[in-house]
Amino acid sequence: MVTYLCPLFSGSSGNATLVEIGGARILVDAGKPGNCLSAALRCAGIPPESIAALLITHEHIDHVRGAGVFSRRYGVPIYANAGTWEGMDPLIGDIAPANIRVFATEHGFFIKEAAVFPFKTPHDARESVGYRFEAESRSMVVMTDIGHADPLLLDCAAGSDLVLIEANHDPELVRSCRYPFLTKQRILSDNGHLSNENAGRALARLYSTGVRRAILAHLSRDNNFEELALSTVREQLRLADIPDEAFDLTVARRDEVTGMFQVAEG
Ligand SMILES: [Zn+2]
Ligand SMILES: [Zn+2]
Repeated sequence: MVTYLCPLFSGSSGNATLVEIGGARILVDAGKPGNCLSAALRCAGIPPESIAALLITHEHIDHVRGAGVFSRRYGVPIYANAGTWEGMDPLIGDIAPANIRVFATEHGFFIKEAAVFPFKTPHDARESVGYRFEAESRSMVVMTDIGHADPLLLDCAAGSDLVLIEANHDPELVRSCRYPFLTKQRILSDNGHLSNENAGRALARLYSTGVRRAILAHLSRDNNFEELALSTVREQLRLADIPDEAFDLTVARRDEVTGMFQVAEG
């Protein structure tokens, strides 16, 4: 079965990632207006009405902005844990009861043939999660909005064929930018966002579990840029004796479809 991951939007202005695995087309987060999500899917060659499920990582607006509209327009069920449902309820409007799916973070579930494993992430939201998807011995992981990558979190991504991981900022740029002090503290905290350097360290650890391919995501508009994220992550990989050619790295685009990253052909 065809298996791929396709970042549609990435960053604090809106996040959405299309995943196809186990015969299911799944949208992880819907942080842009509904019409933008539909347009991006069509641009990727995917009819929006073919989406089987919408999975939400947490209630921040850059992850849920278009969730309600998308669910109502195409009758798509929304999956989230109880904490996230509470947090996003005032933000997404009425959802048809049949399309409200509540999971427990510790429990995996199926969407068609795809096994979905939510896992807890350290972030300043009610009950934020990342997702691991598995089918036919292939796996893909989506994890953004993570203050730090502890061993438990890395376990959830171990051995995956493709990892979409946050590389949010350069700490020096955050410290010297014009954000209010509290905002800086929030970004840099253990429950904030992952720096480029820490993303590189996390990927170096994941390399030892067999991970060879990653997409850097959720780059800060003000405190990061593509070349800096890539070079900082590469530097950390080299420090761990991982040569450039041994690890395939891409950066997810902020406002346009990045591309289809295939891990199995149909
Ligand atoms: Zn976010
Ligand atoms: Zn967030």
